[in-house]
Amino acid sequence: MNPFRLSFILLFVLFIVVRGYYHRKSGTVGEPIESEAENKAIPFLRRRAGVPWIIGVFVYMVYPPWMAWAELPLPDWLDWLRWLGVGFAAATIALLVWIHHALDKNFSTHARIRADHTLVTSGPYRWVRHPMYPTLMLFSLAAFLLSANWFIGAPPTLIVALIMITRPSTEEQQLIEKFGDEYRVYMQRTGRFLPRLGR
Ligand code: SAH
Repeated sequence: MNPFRLSFILLFVLFIVVRGYYHRKSGTVGEPIESEAENKAIPFLRRRAGVPWIIGVFVYMVYPPWMAWAELPLPDWLDWLRWLGVGFAAATIALLVWIHHALDKNFSTHARIRADHTLVTSGPYRWVRHPMYPTLMLFSLAAFLLSANWFIGAPPTLIVALIMITRPSTEEQQLIEKFGDEYRVYMQRTGRFLPRLGR
């Protein structure tokens, strides 16, 4: 079997297992994926693109020639780029475990404050307010490179980009409402997607 396809299968399954475990643990399974406070484009796209995308991923894993119509013509000498995708995908799954572990039951698939919400400032949240979104972006880009197939790579990359543009400010507003100055002070010492430099 092509090593990229094998890597894709292993990493994709690992990703689903990790996300599934933490979704279940945080009690978000089966909850609606939208919130009043949020941009409606994200749940709309997730519903519209979700099923065809999952079918595409499944077909790619089982029999890639059927997905050849969306293949990117990467020449062999660019294989190192696809190996980079393998490394990044593996690294981001490890990062996701760290992030979910820190966020624990405060995780949601949309912006909201739970009844028993606590403010997390440990683990990666010590330096970054939204570590999960850039990590998911890196995973999507890694899957894009690894599969070298736009039907597999483009939809998650676009959806995560939309989430990164629209959701953090909503979350921050809600967290300020809930935690007030504690969150404002936390914002001053952290960066949105990357650690704050120069402190
Ligand atoms: N935006 C974060 C979390 C994604 S999960 C990240 O990228 O890592 C979305 C949920 O996390 C939202 O319901 C939001 O209220 C909650 N959340 C975000 N930052 C938080 C924090 N520091 N402490 C507790 N909950 C947080």
